[in-house]
Amino acid sequence: NKKVVLKNYVTGIPTEGDMGVVTETVRLKAPEGSTAMIVKNLYLSCDPYMRSRMTKHDEPSYVPDFVPGQVITGYGVFKVVDSTHPEFKAGDLAWGTTGWEEYSVITNFEVLFKINHPEIPLSYYTGVLGMPGFTAYVGFYEIGKPKEGEQVFVSAAAGAVGQLVGQFAKLTGCYVAGSAGSDEKVNLLKNKFGFDGAFNYKKEQDLNAALIRCFPRGIDIYFENVGGPMLDAVLLNMRNHGRIAACGMISQYNREKHEGVHNLFCVVPKRLRIEGFVVFDYYASSYQKFEDMMVQHLKEGRITYVEDVAEGLERAPAALTGLFEGRNVGKQLVAVAKE
Ligand code: NDP
Repeated sequence: NKKVVLKNYVTGIPTEGDMGVVTETVRLKAPEGSTAMIVKNLYLSCDPYMRSRMTKHDEPSYVPDFVPGQVITGYGVFKVVDSTHPEFKAGDLAWGTTGWEEYSVITNFEVLFKINHPEIPLSYYTGVLGMPGFTAYVGFYEIGKPKEGEQVFVSAAAGAVGQLVGQFAKLTGCYVAGSAGSDEKVNLLKNKFGFDGAFNYKKEQDLNAALIRCFPRGIDIYFENVGGPMLDAVLLNMRNHGRIAACGMISQYNREKHEGVHNLFCVVPKRLRIEGFVVFDYYASSYQKFEDMMVQHLKEGRITYVEDVAEGLERAPAALTGLFEGRNVGKQLVAVAKE
């Protein structure tokens, strides 16, 4: 069984060398007397929150830290090989928490869903139909509470979550613009995902001026993925009663000391609501509704989706660290095996 392990806790920017691929032997039989599943991993998801798990925290975080020498865990799509779980049998396809390895023994069933639509590419359950897609849905609809005609801004807009937020905004009848870190991504935003406006934040001298250009009337909803200087510039451009759905702040994840926010005073006169959320809290109440909706959108061609696939477990460390340099174009995942 080939697996990806964390070598040591990470400070600063993670590198491929912080992880290693090792081999061990495994028994492909679920242990008797406990509830467990042996699964063959097909696709693994690379997600920004995994960075936080690479650092040792003194206080427990909402996700546990990885343990050096042990396999990296995250979201994936897998096929059940053997199971003592009453609801899963050999041959079933599912997605949820698994290990970055060829075969995993799953005993934590907190996030585990059967795949109901095998006619849709299975890899989509790491993205558009999985955790990132559901994050876009929760953040945009449940936190952002959009109304037709509103002005929506999305950062990291060409990524797994951002590309879908932009399309939800268009389906709701909003005006939407996004920022991304390359001209290729800006082109995708405008010409594939249907954004009304987009800019390459790495080429802008003045983020405030770029936002004024895209939003002469101001922003009603900011879908926040990056934090840092972008958040500061957005605060200046929010409209009265605007909402900020605080999904993530990737620009801060590799910093030992987080940058301050200078324009927070804007929340008072503009009567803003800033609300953070963690997608995990919403699976039980809303995932099924989301999946039904998204499957219809995909089948009827209302949503397009771009993924960036790294082939093979050996490429998983580079795929994960690439998120922090913006190397991924669309949803980054790792293809481990065929069914
Ligand atoms: P993406 O697919 O968007 O990949 C991350 C992207 O972030 C990169 O491609 C890069 O794009 C951008 N980026 C990296 N470093 C920086 C930086 N220093 N400044 C600005 N942008 C940067 O990731 P996801 O769509 O999976 O995640 C997007 C956000 O959503 C993250 O903040 C993540 O933590 C958050 N999230 C939150 C969840 C929740 O429950 N709250 C659940 C899932 C995700 P570019 O080339 O444009 O710079």
